[in-house]
Amino acid sequence: MGEITERFRNRIIEKRDEYLEVLKEMLSFPSVSATGEGMDEAPERVARALERAGLRVEIFREFNGYPAVWGELREERHGTLLIYNHYDVQPPDPIEKWTSDPFKPSIRDGRIYARGACDNKGNLAARLCAIDLLMDSVGEVPLNIKFLVEGEEEIGSPNLEKFFKNHRDSLSADACLWEMGGSSPEGRPLIYLGAKGILYLEIHATEKRPDLHSSWGAIVRNPALELVHVISTLRNREGLVTVDGFYDDVEKPDSETLALLDELGSAESEIRAVAGEDGLISRKPLKELFTDLTMMPCINVCGLNSGYTGPGSKTVLPNTAYAKIDVRLVPRMRPEKILELIIKHVERVSGGRVSVRPLEKGYPAARTSPSEPFVELVKMTAEAAHGVKPLVYPSSPGSGPMYLVTDFLGTPCVAAGIGDHRSNIHAPDESISLEDYLKGILHIALTIINFVPYLRSGVAPYL
Ligand SMILES: [Zn+2]
Repeated sequence: MGEITERFRNRIIEKRDEYLEVLKEMLSFPSVSATGEGMDEAPERVARALERAGLRVEIFREFNGYPAVWGELREERHGTLLIYNHYDVQPPDPIEKWTSDPFKPSIRDGRIYARGACDNKGNLAARLCAIDLLMDSVGEVPLNIKFLVEGEEEIGSPNLEKFFKNHRDSLSADACLWEMGGSSPEGRPLIYLGAKGILYLEIHATEKRPDLHSSWGAIVRNPALELVHVISTLRNREGLVTVDGFYDDVEKPDSETLALLDELGSAESEIRAVAGEDGLISRKPLKELFTDLTMMPCINVCGLNSGYTGPGSKTVLPNTAYAKIDVRLVPRMRPEKILELIIKHVERVSGGRVSVRPLEKGYPAARTSPSEPFVELVKMTAEAAHGVKPLVYPSSPGSGPMYLVTDFLGTPCVAAGIGDHRSNIHAPDESISLEDYLKGILHIALTIINFVPYLRSGVAPYL
């Protein structure tokens, strides 16, 4: 282990309690953007945490939404790192499935449980502690740091594009560290070089009549059946989307990306941990599954609703049915074009009886080249912090408005952070491992201290 890594690691152990307090404070208040719970107070609490880390803070309330918290540290060096996080969280429901209060952090068996522990307050806390660690251990943070902490990520970042347009100059940076990341079941850090885009819509089948006695089902059209028929035409049994033109803009992975996918092929446990032994759509080889997961677009049914779904029986012929659908996009696919294709498809297979309603306008995918120097730096520092080589995904299977950094600003962007297959994000008993949290602080501190020398000369002197 290098001298700086060793020194930082020892200092983290000494300051462990202090750094856990930063995390606990962040997890002690609700900030649920979907319902508004705690959102009056949350921006101030986040701003205070940024101030305590030594950042110059501003709360931007320029849009009719939840404010963004901005924190900056100017060192007038030749190098700027932009850090993106979000302070809003998913609703804690179903609340009765939590072992402890979702907004009172609880430590059990080396893990901390609370809503937002992984997604995304734990990551934010670790990054703030990394700033403290640098000030404390070397007396400075040797570059310009800009924190953008959004309050609307969990509701689709409706104002983020406007924010980027209004503050383009302030956001300029040499590289950006994005919010997600984690570790594989074997403890290998995961690094993502992109995120998929997303389009969210509803498909509705409705008849202009009231609900009827179900005996009429023998001769009267049933919107629930119309709907499931339409949905069944969106994909085939192997999972391939069967909407005309859907894959037209999908590019084949280049050789560097294929090399990354080769390495990911060894992470079988990652897939098994999620899907179980029998939960996969197809029996494709693992490498192809990883390609589908990270490089290919997908249409998914999030929910279906129609008729009677309560306990016991009720014989009814419903007059309406709808489904909630998400569409994950890869680079070059435009959400508005894909929406058009799906509308056309649904119109054709339903004879115009079933309609598509977009809920949000969606956003495109983002990707950073594996050959960007910042990618190499984040890999090296992850290996130093975790003591094991990271796994690099060309893209996260999930979505995020990362395109604003990669495409709008033209800045390379990498996601690395804290979390694992037990983190239960968006679900009850969300948690992170405390050990991962402390390693996460080390990783970010090493990335920051090596940032300028590595980007200038390709050497990371402080490991
Ligand atoms: Zn989330």
